[in-house]
Amino acid sequence: MIDTTHLTVDQLADAWQHIHDTSPADEADPLVLECAGRLASDPGGEQAHVWVAGLVAMSGYLAWRPGKAAEQAALNALRDAATALDGQSCSHDDHPYEAEMDSLEDEIWTGDNGLLTGELVSPAGDTGAGRVLCPGNVAGWARLATDMIAPFTVRSIPAGAPKYHHSSIRMLSGVVNDYPYDDPQELLADEAVCLPDRPTRGLLAGFLVTMNATCWYAASERITDRSVLDSMVKGIQAAVPLLGDEPCVHGPREHPDTDDPDYANRIGYLLRSPGGRAELAEDYGWDEEEQADDEEERVEAWVCSAFLHELADKTLEVLTDALQSFEPAGGDEPGGGGEPE
Ligand SMILES: [Zn+2]
Ligand SMILES: [Zn+2]
Repeated sequence: MIDTTHLTVDQLADAWQHIHDTSPADEADPLVLECAGRLASDPGGEQAHVWVAGLVAMSGYLAWRPGKAAEQAALNALRDAATALDGQSCSHDDHPYEAEMDSLEDEIWTGDNGLLTGELVSPAGDTGAGRVLCPGNVAGWARLATDMIAPFTVRSIPAGAPKYHHSSIRMLSGVVNDYPYDDPQELLADEAVCLPDRPTRGLLAGFLVTMNATCWYAASERITDRSVLDSMVKGIQAAVPLLGDEPCVHGPREHPDTDDPDYANRIGYLLRSPGGRAELAEDYGWDEEEQADDEEERVEAWVCSAFLHELADKTLEVLTDALQSFEPAGGDEPGGGGEPE
């Protein structure tokens, strides 16, 4: 356990940069708790940008499996900061964090977001530090970090998934609608292996939804290479144990309907970024703050572990059924006829 109380901001900043998804809790949690505590004590204050930057820097750790107390402290402090900072006036039409959202392909922010150094680079002027250190920009980063750690728990994130995700949606839409632009075997094989070892909740949900959206195609006679199905099965089997074990809080009809593969395909990628989730939330009218009744699908149920477990089971069933019609792996007589019924 490291003692953080005597460290200067520079020393803390250096320590934050070394925290990532594989950091041990006894190293990361004290830093998170210290940082969150400082932010919580003055969430709209002049130094708020420093502590928000710290929590953003440690978001790779926080999005994976942080200590419960550290996670809760970080989320509370980030939400309080967003609320307090949003209340301060600003004359900008946009803020630098919005331009950075396109690079959040794996959700985790690893670069310098300027919040720590903006002041030093350009002490005055609206184009540089003014905009970076503007409360509106700091609040924006606080919301992005919150949504990455706990998807669909914060509103007012600008809608728009990264360009790369939109291009994935287009390519896979060709496949699930049966007019692929590219080699579908290659596309599906690439999708099956794209999940990082320690995905964010949004990334993990998105992966499982994409696997489900594309499984009917993989299971059809259109795919002739069984290794595609094998990798999809392997990808899903590796993903399922990463799901959390929080109990489902949803009513019988609140889990999403995944019967339309094209719709599910789009959502599979929208789930993977804060901007994409904001796009999806708009479809659901979620920003209007009205409480949906128990009979309606809820947008946040797309990341519900129970829903995703069920979805993964359904997907695996389709794929393993289809695999029966292939020769055993390594067999040298493909399409020899006489498939078992
Ligand atoms: Zn501003
Ligand atoms: Zn649920």
